[in-house]
Amino acid sequence: MLRSTLLKLSESKGFAHWVTTNGMARRMSHRFVAGETLDEAVEAARQLNQQGMSVSLDCLGENVSTPADAQKVRDVYLGIYDRIAKEKLNANVSCKLTQLGLDLSVEFCEGLVLSIAERAAAYDSFLRIDMEGSIYTQRTVELVKRVRAQTPCIGTVIQAYLYRSESDIQDLLSYGCRIRLCKGAYKESDEVAFPRKQDVDANYVKLMRLLLPSGFYHAIATHDPRMIAETIRAAAEKQISKDDFEFQMLYGVRTDLQQRLVGDGYRVRIYVPYGQEWFPYFMRRLAERPANLSFFARNFFRS
Ligand SMILES: Cc1cc2nc3c(=O)[nH]c(=O)nc-3n(C[C@H](O)[C@H](O)[C@H](O)COP(=O)(O)OP(=O)(O)OC[C@H]3O[C@@H](n4cnc5c(N)ncnc54)[C@H](O)[C@@H]3O)c2cc1C
Repeated sequence: MLRSTLLKLSESKGFAHWVTTNGMARRMSHRFVAGETLDEAVEAARQLNQQGMSVSLDCLGENVSTPADAQKVRDVYLGIYDRIAKEKLNANVSCKLTQLGLDLSVEFCEGLVLSIAERAAAYDSFLRIDMEGSIYTQRTVELVKRVRAQTPCIGTVIQAYLYRSESDIQDLLSYGCRIRLCKGAYKESDEVAFPRKQDVDANYVKLMRLLLPSGFYHAIATHDPRMIAETIRAAAEKQISKDDFEFQMLYGVRTDLQQRLVGDGYRVRIYVPYGQEWFPYFMRRLAERPANLSFFARNFFRS
């Protein structure tokens, strides 16, 4: 119930304005967001690299409404690869298709994605296309497959809460596509997604067991100690080396677990978001854990 309300509020422009113009809320967003500028994100990435973790940089934003805005976002991402190279960071990039004009035209969006993927290839890097709400899943999978046919340094994300995910994984694996597996962060109806957490978790384990032995380098994105333990068990059973997959976690979430996995010799990549459009991302993080909400509310209303 609380999760649904928060996810609904994450789409409200009025509420976004109210929250993002509050100084205390902006400071609190730093719990999950590295800052509003690329400089701040680079600093966060440098510190994570020093702690033995790699990074995926994401310039926050979604659902742009003009081609000019989408082109500006494309230029930002091209610049991020240049900056990663200049700073010699161990980092790649994650972005969302609705930030690159998917709502305007698939062809237009694809052209922008291809130019970003080509920049990634020029640096021998990688571009991860995040997965958004289920109305975008089919278009995202198809677009990634088409761009991948031209440059292989692109991959996407599959959400364990969707019923369709097993067949999407089979499809993407037949193209040799690298996949990040997550549980799924959007508000979905029970017509497309498992409503019960235990079913999402069971599907997560099932899908992880499909990915690990597939021969491609995938990302297991979760903070759930049970999913992590299942992954470690599956890797041991199938004799999959610690270098053949990576764990991924979000900036500011379960830093204790992030460091423990590095200490145990696993590859860990941290998703580092930055930018001024932090509101929907921030709300999804609150929705994932009610305790975050009470911490936020106490400080917000005290300000
Ligand atoms: C690297 C990465 C990339 C992602 N990309 C996408 C994407 O492209 N599309 C998409 O839909 N979703 C994405 N997600 C979000 C994901 O779908 C989940 O919503 C999120 O990771 C919470 O699920 P969980 O696996 O951590 O398990 P849960 O069962 O939700 O949480 C397990 C435990 O993790 C901790 N935890 C989880 N979330 C939080 C939080 N916000 N604050 C504090 N503690 C927390 C708590 O201790 C909780 O008990 C991504 C997640 C990660 C880690």
